[in-house]
Amino acid sequence: MSFYSSSDHLQQSHPNPSCEYCGKKCNSTNDLDFHKLNECNKITIPCALKDYGCSTSVVRAEIVDHYKTERHQSSIITFIRKILSKSINDQHGRGSTMDADTLHHTTMMSSDNVNKQLQEVCQTVDILADGVSTLNEDTQRLSHESLHINNAFDALIREFAILKLSIQEQSTYLDGLKPNQDILNEDVASSKQKLDDIQFVSYDGTLLWKITNFNSRMGENFLTRFILIKDNP
Ligand SMILES: [Zn+2]
Ligand SMILES: [Zn+2]
Ligand SMILES: [Zn+2]
Repeated sequence: MSFYSSSDHLQQSHPNPSCEYCGKKCNSTNDLDFHKLNECNKITIPCALKDYGCSTSVVRAEIVDHYKTERHQSSIITFIRKILSKSINDQHGRGSTMDADTLHHTTMMSSDNVNKQLQEVCQTVDILADGVSTLNEDTQRLSHESLHINNAFDALIREFAILKLSIQEQSTYLDGLKPNQDILNEDVASSKQKLDDIQFVSYDGTLLWKITNFNSRMGENFLTRFILIKDNP
């Protein structure tokens, strides 16, 4: 007969325990415990107010949503009512065993106490309400700002699109300009050539043809028909 410690038993009988909530397989019961405590998002827990009419099984991952449910809210009210009536019952219960003087004294004391507690609760509620209204203002401001930023962003995107288009147009235009300029350059060159070839200067109504490189052209025998035309009035 052999004896196992509890962990030996778990290791041997349940080598790969799986989570009963989500079915995840774990390597050891320690892993499973860790998984249930920290990771499992299917695990259910009882609400802290289960004794006051709230749910006994809430999915832990959805506990924040649970706090907003009607059932939980009415459980809070039930809880507060129970606390209040308990405090009143306490006063009555104590009163029945005391003489009038002590009763008066104790009631004064505990009503002072309750008043003080109520004041503290009121202050806390005030602070919380302040916090909530500050948060509300922040939310409004932030949503306002976010709207502004969104609008600015939209406008920026539109401007960017326009800019892109105009850059495209400009580059197309520049591309079209290049051959034009080449043609223009050729025109200028040929015009210059023409001007160099034929220049006439008029001083006194006489038309004078100027022929450049006269000598070399003469030498090359370019112009044989006329050399110089002088027009006499
Ligand atoms: Zn077992
Ligand atoms: Zn699980
Ligand atoms: Zn609850």
